[in-house]
Amino acid sequence: MKHFADVARVPGDPILGLLDAYRADPNPAKLDLGVGVYKDALGLTPIPKAVKLAEQRLIDSEQTKSYIGGHGDPLFGEQLLRLVLGEASPALVENRAGCTQTPGGTGALRLVGEFIAKCLPGRSLWLSDPTWPIHETLFAAARLKVEHYPYVDAQNRLDVPGMLAALEQIPSGDVVLLHACCHNPTGYDLSQSDWRQVLEIVRRRELLPLFDFAYQGFGDGLDEDAWAVRLFVEALPEVLITSSCSKNFGLYRERTGALIAVTVDGSSLIDVRSQFASVARNLWSTPPSHGAAVVATILANSELRQLWQQEVAAKRERIAGLRQGLVEALAPHGLAERFAHIAQQRGMFSYTGLTADQVLRLRRDDSVYLVESGRANIAGLDAARLDQLAAAIARVTA
Ligand code: PMP
Repeated sequence: MKHFADVARVPGDPILGLLDAYRADPNPAKLDLGVGVYKDALGLTPIPKAVKLAEQRLIDSEQTKSYIGGHGDPLFGEQLLRLVLGEASPALVENRAGCTQTPGGTGALRLVGEFIAKCLPGRSLWLSDPTWPIHETLFAAARLKVEHYPYVDAQNRLDVPGMLAALEQIPSGDVVLLHACCHNPTGYDLSQSDWRQVLEIVRRRELLPLFDFAYQGFGDGLDEDAWAVRLFVEALPEVLITSSCSKNFGLYRERTGALIAVTVDGSSLIDVRSQFASVARNLWSTPPSHGAAVVATILANSELRQLWQQEVAAKRERIAGLRQGLVEALAPHGLAERFAHIAQQRGMFSYTGLTADQVLRLRRDDSVYLVESGRANIAGLDAARLDQLAAAIARVTA
């Protein structure tokens, strides 16, 4: 008997397929704006200096490779809570916020999905339309009923009225996933007044907010990007947050992240965290140590922390400069206004508004690789190639 004879083949991740096509393209002027990793001006994703220095210290000081506990490294938890919630967060002062270390932001999302399915049965989970595609498959795999609220309209503009109207209709008790900053895939973030309106609805309709915080530091600053999270934590008794250290610490392959719970009081926090540890036990048992130890080492040391903050700022400023530069490069083609949103969006990604057909032509004629939805990874650009890209965009939009 052939045991695997009936195993169906599933297609690979389309974004990774794009990377294969890019690698196979012999054109020296090719541009990869597909895969969602930060790249520097040389097209590399180097290890931050602060990470290298922390790793050297860890090699010298690490005493054991025995398991870390179910909630991970306590120093990492303590430091990350302060990075996300702010040093003086009332939830921290009142001992009603806790951190569970997870394998990346993805691990945190899967853990929270399993927690909702187990402990809050019958609650649907609401995602923005569009959202990071893994949100859709990951929560479905956790057996949650997934629903959507609008986020972008047919003209590729942020649709705040549509979003607010949809939130008003969500059944009380349901969970709403919100991108804390640098929305993936669109790059459109809510303004402070938009966030206040979302908060008002979430509070009145007794919805449970779940923030996905994967790009802290890539938008306007480490504290600035946490503004909405902190607004909700100060206003509401219960908030869930998934945090990823992949992008801001450059620790992608070390799988470093956390699930943060803010609860009504310390006793509820113990209950909720006991469930996190119990659910995680059946997923990955205990989290990997190295990446979180690096993060804890950096955040707890003023010198390393300062260096890391400078490195995050440099990444953020490079992306902001490329956004502005691309719009300026489009100006001679009469396209500055049409693509002005690229400079207003935040984070690595931009919903450019290019159609699937235009994306395919960019790939075929100019070796420019972006996702069919029109999402471009702005960090994949390089200042010397903005005119080339602008000319290619002008050709496909003519
Ligand atoms: N959420 C969003 C919106 C993301 O874009 C990503 C990374 N692409 C993640 C979560 C998860 O990141 P990781 O698991 O690599 O930490």
